[in-house]
Amino acid sequence: MKSEGPESLLLIFDLDDTLVSTSTLLVPEALKRAIEIMAGESNLCEKPLTAKLWSEAKSLFDHGFPVREIFHQIASQLEGLSSQFNTEDLVAHALRSYRRPQIPEKLPLLEGVAETLDFLGKRHKLALITRGVPGVQQKKIEALGVASHFCQIVLVDTERDERKEHGFRSVLNALGFDSSRTLVVGDDPWDELAQGKALGCWTCRTVQSRFLNAPTSDRVCDFQIQKMMELFEVVQVLEDRMR
Ligand SMILES: [Mg+2]
Repeated sequence: MKSEGPESLLLIFDLDDTLVSTSTLLVPEALKRAIEIMAGESNLCEKPLTAKLWSEAKSLFDHGFPVREIFHQIASQLEGLSSQFNTEDLVAHALRSYRRPQIPEKLPLLEGVAETLDFLGKRHKLALITRGVPGVQQKKIEALGVASHFCQIVLVDTERDERKEHGFRSVLNALGFDSSRTLVVGDDPWDELAQGKALGCWTCRTVQSRFLNAPTSDRVCDFQIQKMMELFEVVQVLEDRMR
């Protein structure tokens, strides 16, 4: 049975590159398909060109560039080679494909995630808030087999420009937690961490991600961990403060 003691916290996790290594398992193929679509629609589908563009896109992604910006950069290169396309349409088609990667039936959790969710879930409330195409994010959750750990799961629709902030508010209200008793755990400094911090939540940044070298302000990150199991210590610090 879950403890509902005064030190009980609400822990809200991100999914991509926090629980599963999306950047290495799904992104390379998704970028490749999107680049092939862009090159194909520009009638420039020679293999050496698409391979070069893919490699450039992957490098920009690994350096933390937003995907929309990456596709704009690729489109600007294609624009110099072909005059017969609309940049905005091309980027939109690439984004649509990128956001719908093939999800295998099973996906592995990152090291230490299963143990962390098991252990912390016995003492605290766990929630999951993930942004993307809801049907795709749902498939990832099923492939990871993690749904039972969370008492609330919110799928934030990226194509409707929904923000995680709304997900945070809805979970806090549904579970009756104050933001001062809530810890947001994720890899994206601008998405979950900044938006969680703005609501008054504690924030913990996981740094196994493409945002590793991103200039991150201490204002949005209260804690930083290299591996998920280090979260035990972060939670212990917060438990002590709540007593
Ligand atoms: Mg993430």
